[in-house]
Amino acid sequence: MTNKDLANLIFPNIQETIEDIEKKYPKRNLPEGAKVTRFAPSPTGFMHIGNFQQAVTDYILAKKSNGVFYVRNEDTDQSRLKEGAVDLILETLNYYNIKPDEYQDGEKIVGNYGPYYQSKRKHIYQVFIKHLIEIGRAYPCFCSKEKLEETRKKQERYKQRTGYYGPYSTCRKLTLDTMIEKVKNKEPYIIRFKSYGSHDEKFRFDDLVKGRIMLPENDLDDVIMKQDGLPTYHFAHVVDDYLMGTTHVVRGEEWLSSVPRHLEMFNAFGFKPPKYIHAPLIMKNDNGKIRKISKRKDPESSMTYYREHGYPPLAVIESLMTIINTNYEEWHQHNPDKSYLDFEYSPKKMSASGGVYDLDKLKNISKTVISKMTKEELYKESYNWACTYSKELKEIIEKDKDYYMAIINIEREQKKPRKDIGKYEDIIDNIWYMYDELYNTREKEYEWINITNKEEIKNILNTYMDKYFNIDNKDSWFNGVKELTDSLGYCSNMKEYKNNPDKYKGSVADISTVLRVALTTKSTTPDLYEIMSLLGEEKIKERYNNI
Ligand code: GLU
Repeated sequence: MTNKDLANLIFPNIQETIEDIEKKYPKRNLPEGAKVTRFAPSPTGFMHIGNFQQAVTDYILAKKSNGVFYVRNEDTDQSRLKEGAVDLILETLNYYNIKPDEYQDGEKIVGNYGPYYQSKRKHIYQVFIKHLIEIGRAYPCFCSKEKLEETRKKQERYKQRTGYYGPYSTCRKLTLDTMIEKVKNKEPYIIRFKSYGSHDEKFRFDDLVKGRIMLPENDLDDVIMKQDGLPTYHFAHVVDDYLMGTTHVVRGEEWLSSVPRHLEMFNAFGFKPPKYIHAPLIMKNDNGKIRKISKRKDPESSMTYYREHGYPPLAVIESLMTIINTNYEEWHQHNPDKSYLDFEYSPKKMSASGGVYDLDKLKNISKTVISKMTKEELYKESYNWACTYSKELKEIIEKDKDYYMAIINIEREQKKPRKDIGKYEDIIDNIWYMYDELYNTREKEYEWINITNKEEIKNILNTYMDKYFNIDNKDSWFNGVKELTDSLGYCSNMKEYKNNPDKYKGSVADISTVLRVALTTKSTTPDLYEIMSLLGEEKIKERYNNI
């Protein structure tokens, strides 16, 4: 009996060889230096910010080198699958404008290296596993779950490394004849890789983020095929990254300790492994304590959080860029109008100990991103957002689109645009006073500042409406306010007022604050003249009369 007999017994229907498969996945024809990257999430129904950060990194690497970025669904663990999970992944990437060159959406396959669902590549993996059995680098293992559990407990009790290796890899020691007999007798089995490594030996490994590190050789006989005939991640990614021509694997640093297992598998086939970028964990400052962002405790760990609250996709990407590369922020300050894709990403500039993700920073970035939008862009983006997340905003936009656009256009599309909106969710809070239906129904708190006396306020408002109100244009409006100021014993010239404050009841700033607060309740708003001309005389009068 030979290994070949065992391989044929286990895979009687696999006739193809690795060479046959290789013909279907020819080497990619790409320019020198082009990088092929992949985003390889397990479709669990949750898109973690750390995974998304990896996808952004993949995208940059491929885009900047005229390479290929593809999405591969790592769905071999069928028990963890969630309905709609693949859609969530593709939809999220699309929302952030991270466009894969190759991907699969159900039956639709884009790209020549698919299928891009691992569950649809079972046949391919089995060809590779069959080969390993033939060359004596894989074998069936008949150990029951209970037996493995018992071994694990024993290892823990004696403070030994857990796993299937050395003295514990019992099935490895079975004779070929016994293996064949057991398979023939239909004893349940899985397939294990046969490791040749020694845990006491170390080898050098160059991670593009961590630099050169020493790792112990692998000696685990990993499961490579489960009872359902599907491979494990360890094995599947080796085969896929080889066939799909991946040059750079960007993945979470939790995989770093598995590198020895993966490299040994690449070696067993004689394949050149890709380069690895083990991305550091995303951290959070929790009241002074730096800790890992937690899926359980922190809503911002999920990519849906940013969408629900209405952060523009670009703001989220830029905020992540600040932890993807520590020098991004400075670069961006010097190049505020350039795209993040113009930035020279370097894995060495990933903070190896984990970047702290800061929501306040995101808010600031977001304000800048929104301030740079044209009114049409902001209208479109905020309306799309409102259609799913805010009935109130959707309704006011739909009622009068032009009026909404005029409001959001105040102090926009100019050299130094106003930065008051941090996310679409905040728009209503910034503009509600421009709508009577909201103004009349809201609980109002008037933010009076220097002039707080009701009588004086009424006097200012009445005099203004009677004699000085004029919104024909900005100059005549401002002249009116100045005349009002002087007529009531306040000072319209700020310089003069600063020199002789005791001569006056107050300044033009105090008067315009009264006009502003009485109209909007707020002491700071965008340009008051613009607000007044949009609201119109009638509404202004009505609000002033009600003070
Ligand atoms: N499916 C693995 C995960 O979701 C991917 C790791 C990798 O990118 O290779 O963690």
